[in-house]
Amino acid sequence: MGIRFAALLICLTVLGGALPRAAHAEWHKRTDAIMGTRIYVELWDTDAAHGEASIDAVMAEMRHIDDLMSHYKPESQLSQINQHAADAPVVVDKELFDLIKLSTHYSEITEGAFDITYASVGYLYNYPNHIRPTEEQIKAALPAVNWRNMKFDEAHHSVFFEHKGMRIDLGGIGKGYAVDRGIEILQKRGIQHAVVTAGGDSRIIGKRIAADGSEREWLVAIRHPDDPNKVVTRIPLSDAAMSTSGDYERYFDENGVRYHHIIDPRTGHSASMVRSATIIGPTATQTDGMSKTAFVLGAEKALEIINRMPEYDAVFVKPDGKVLYSNGLRPPAPRPEGAPPAAAQK
Ligand code: ADP
Ligand code: MG
Repeated sequence: MGIRFAALLICLTVLGGALPRAAHAEWHKRTDAIMGTRIYVELWDTDAAHGEASIDAVMAEMRHIDDLMSHYKPESQLSQINQHAADAPVVVDKELFDLIKLSTHYSEITEGAFDITYASVGYLYNYPNHIRPTEEQIKAALPAVNWRNMKFDEAHHSVFFEHKGMRIDLGGIGKGYAVDRGIEILQKRGIQHAVVTAGGDSRIIGKRIAADGSEREWLVAIRHPDDPNKVVTRIPLSDAAMSTSGDYERYFDENGVRYHHIIDPRTGHSASMVRSATIIGPTATQTDGMSKTAFVLGAEKALEIINRMPEYDAVFVKPDGKVLYSNGLRPPAPRPEGAPPAAAQK
């Protein structure tokens, strides 16, 4: 699979106040290709060797997660589940077991829009080769798509499929999880300012420190679905995670229809209610788990869900180009005509 480049462009904004810094502290950054995507780590450290070793540790963790969870690797534990779990329970590491179980929480709160068993039909698509299933193939595979047919044994960390032909894929949550694991490693090593990105999933700790020592918010840009150089909006962020899903990431067009990598578990077709969906929240596992919702349920329904949960915010780009914001990001409504002047802000 080709390496996809991040949907996010991260750059500086002009918010924040000055703080003196040790002269030798600096940003350390590195890009690598792991999990079929672009991994980017940037961190602030006073000790160059410690900073570089911290980046090494994050990259090693990403490789470990890929070895455990890749569906491209036949020897991965995830592939073992797909090969054998319909015959008998498959015992896996607690880490993988916990993430698969956690994925059902996102199925629950997104009313089934997020469902890792989408892969039972999803594997029939091959985007680089422009291959898609026929209606008959979809019809035959669709009964296997249902997260409720995964059975978990807590004592043995085993997973069992109650339906033949079931497959799972963690492409919709694994990168967010990997980002959180990376951030955890950095925090344990005493890093206080960092960004970790895996494809469309990013998490920031602390603030950006500029050359003059001032601390600033990160400014995160959401790209236009049809033009990677055009920006839909910019959002200032610190100590937050953000995931963007887009129909422009892995796709092919045929007879005016876009076949892309986010699948509606109810129909087996590409889910096209929005062009892109960005979710902001505390951790990247959470924002990744939520970023597919609007594609399947539509922007309005997804906004309803997001607005009920105060830890999340969202930006959706609809097929007609309209941009919808969750309550926490919406600019205040214009003052009605004739209203008394607003009190001065302190
Ligand atoms: P990225 O790979 O950049 O993190 P997304 O977060 O948008 O991209 O996730 C898209 C991936 O999610 C797909 O490539 C596929 O592996 C998986 N996926 C597709 N449809 C669903 C779905 N309905 N529920 C859960 N995962 C899905
Ligand atoms: Mg993602």
